[in-house]
Amino acid sequence: MNSISKENIRALPKVELHVHLDTSVRPETVGELGTAQGINLPNDLKTALVCPPVCEDLADYLTRVELALEVLQTASALERAAYELLEDMARENVIYAEIRYAPQLCIRRGLSMQQVIDAVTAGLHTGQEQFSVRAGQILCCLRHDPSAMSHEVAQCAIANWHPSKVVGLDLAADEAAHRGFPHRTAFRLAQGVGMPRTIHAGEAAGAESIREAITVLGAQRLGHGVRLEEDPTLFEPVRQQQIALEMCPTSNVQTRAVSSLAAHPIDRYLKQDLPVTVNTDGRTTSNTTLTQEYYKLTQQFGWGLVDIQQTVLTAAASAFQPDEEQAELRRIILQQWPER
Ligand SMILES: [Zn+2]
Repeated sequence: MNSISKENIRALPKVELHVHLDTSVRPETVGELGTAQGINLPNDLKTALVCPPVCEDLADYLTRVELALEVLQTASALERAAYELLEDMARENVIYAEIRYAPQLCIRRGLSMQQVIDAVTAGLHTGQEQFSVRAGQILCCLRHDPSAMSHEVAQCAIANWHPSKVVGLDLAADEAAHRGFPHRTAFRLAQGVGMPRTIHAGEAAGAESIREAITVLGAQRLGHGVRLEEDPTLFEPVRQQQIALEMCPTSNVQTRAVSSLAAHPIDRYLKQDLPVTVNTDGRTTSNTTLTQEYYKLTQQFGWGLVDIQQTVLTAAASAFQPDEEQAELRRIILQQWPER
């Protein structure tokens, strides 16, 4: 039996690269905001927000975000959600996080995308000051959006590009139903100015989608990348270019990207020296924490401190931050890492 306790893992310095703001709002906060905003709330908030252990598919998983989005249409709600997420992260010693969201989903009641970004920035800056968790934002283009909308999101991302503000661009939503190709001009715009890019790929679709993400959209990291092993010729470019895999074990089982945790390739990938990172995806939707994700991996695959440290250091080295900031994260991780 593995000897690492949840408490041990909680205390370790950790880095999280893949977490969505809208699927990580505390259920009680959704309730309070909904009541204050006069929104009709379901009796059972948790059922509306939290996925069962296994969903129908990714599209079914994504329906769990609707209610949270409904309350995230004001600046104060966005600010609070961002602030509380850093508070939750501080409780488990996440030292750096990249928090992603689609600003175009929060403009239903009159906010501009810039006002959405400003509100999230305000919440994160206050949270960072109070809880000492460094944070950057990633803006998400959505696969089902028209390409012109993705272009606008990319322009917003570039206009707000700063190590303590927006740090990268993402492509999210239903990968099985929509290709990435129509969004190539948005990602070329980002690539042209050197803005970092990550793409959700290899989750609901297979290796072809990963190839498209890397070769057409210029992905420097992959959201999930679970299905990479369907085409082992992709291992070499992923290894050589250090295209980090932002894996989210609980979510990957819920969306049926894998049939079970035991079948999850994360341990195989780690052993094959692929750049693996561990993340939550949606803390509320998946009812999890980064501690819980790591704990599951220690139980399922016998991961020890060495494995955890390797993936945390990979996350630090893959952060969308300047070299000196990555080095600083690495220094903090090694300094706080327990003696064995
Ligand atoms: Zn995601």
